[in-house]
Amino acid sequence: MPLMTETMTKKTRVRFAPSPTGLLHVGSARAALFNWLYARHTGGTFLVRIEDTDLERSTEEATQQILESLEWLGLTPDEPVEYQARRAHIHRAYLERLLESGHAYRCYCPKEKLDELREKARAEGRIFAYRREMFPEEEARKLEAAGAPCVIRFRAPVGGTTAFDDIVYGHIEVENDTIGDFVIARPDGTPLYNFTNVVDDIDMGITLVCRGEDHVPNTPKQIMIYRALGVEPPQFAHLPLILGPDKQKLSKRHGATGVTEFRAMGILPEALVNYLALLGWAPPEAEFEEVMPLEELIARFSLDRVSKSPAVFDHEKLLWMNGVYIRKTPRPRIEALVRERLAQRWPAVEKPDFMPPNPALSRDEWLSGIIGLAIERCRTLTEFPDLLAYFFEAPKSYEEKAAKKFLANEAQIAALEHVGKLLDDAWARATESADPAKNQNPETLEQWCQAMEDPLRVWAESEGIKFGNVAQPIRLAVTGKTASPPLFHVLWFLGREETIRRINALVTWARARLTESGARSGDPPTA
Ligand code: GLU
Repeated sequence: MPLMTETMTKKTRVRFAPSPTGLLHVGSARAALFNWLYARHTGGTFLVRIEDTDLERSTEEATQQILESLEWLGLTPDEPVEYQARRAHIHRAYLERLLESGHAYRCYCPKEKLDELREKARAEGRIFAYRREMFPEEEARKLEAAGAPCVIRFRAPVGGTTAFDDIVYGHIEVENDTIGDFVIARPDGTPLYNFTNVVDDIDMGITLVCRGEDHVPNTPKQIMIYRALGVEPPQFAHLPLILGPDKQKLSKRHGATGVTEFRAMGILPEALVNYLALLGWAPPEAEFEEVMPLEELIARFSLDRVSKSPAVFDHEKLLWMNGVYIRKTPRPRIEALVRERLAQRWPAVEKPDFMPPNPALSRDEWLSGIIGLAIERCRTLTEFPDLLAYFFEAPKSYEEKAAKKFLANEAQIAALEHVGKLLDDAWARATESADPAKNQNPETLEQWCQAMEDPLRVWAESEGIKFGNVAQPIRLAVTGKTASPPLFHVLWFLGREETIRRINALVTWARARLTESGARSGDPPTA
């Protein structure tokens, strides 16, 4: 039997440790995701620890938002969430150990003396690093006896270096003397970040720390604490910054940055996960399919393929990817999500007495049909209500350029009026030959559309009018615009009555406009 190596026996345990001071930023969400992917890939455990010891900046609301965002993304921890503030007794016990072993000490050096030392170092062009020897021991004892306040400092090694091999950034080494004895607990006894972070990672059995590169400067100090406690430090993987397209740190200026904002915009969690996974990570081959199912991301993920150059957040690309996900997600799920958004804008649509404008269809058939018309054109869930608005409300205005082009004179207006009548007649006959309501399959709807279109084409030809000049005024009447999903599909879901009503409304509107402009120019309306 082969000998078990440490890596074979030690199961991976990683954690995401956010400070609850605001929304879950995409940068942090990516750190959570990379930890989660790594845990899934290695068959390890993914944990979440809320670092809420900074009572002034931490809020309960931010904690809830972060946990909700993680859940929405599917990045739920494998064990109950840990809260750092509830672990004070553990921090205290470890602090005692360091004080007892002499790796930490109570420092009474007053602020004025520290300022003086700092100023001296600056004047001499040296990095300031505090050392115990800089404040006379007997003065410290006197202050101690007088009950003066003190901080607790970690006694950093003198001389030599502290080094680690970061999985992303490679070998990093710092001179211990540039660090000096750093503070690990405030005068009120509450411990500081570098200390609590290490204690909790030890206590939670963390084997690898993956977090933002802003923590690189903290790592040597943390490694010193691990060693002082006699514990082998975990592996480290720091993730590069995320920038906006202008190569500045990603911020509000560049648009949405919080996970909840993306959710509100109608981004799907699967799309955001896929997008974030490729933000600084890529599989080995030069060309690969960017839309990658989650199982494949898990199977292929590795931290050593994380790039150390900053990643640029590209909103357009995320929107593109979201559009792909909208179309590849099973239809019932997309329909449910879009229906929620439609009901937010038109609450009547989910009320029991809602009647679709085409009474041949049930609510479900109608909603499914109109959502199907928009699905190729939407990149986010919020675009659906915008694109489908004309199914709920008659146009309040018409595209000016189109109105001028297609309804400039009485002949054109009369043609539209006639087309309205042709459509009304064709409707009954078309439904006789192909009733999409009875036979819910795409071909029947196509046949119905053809049966509606044919008489219009015959008439247009006999009048010498281009078919486009017949179709566009109808489209303008029903949608207010000149671009829409296929016209006869739109008419089917809008229903006979509403279609004719809207055509007549445009006819009336166009005539009134003609009379008005004729009156203004003094000419009689032209026929
Ligand atoms: N609470 C720290 C932060 O939000 C995370 C530290 C870590 O992951 O080690 O930046």
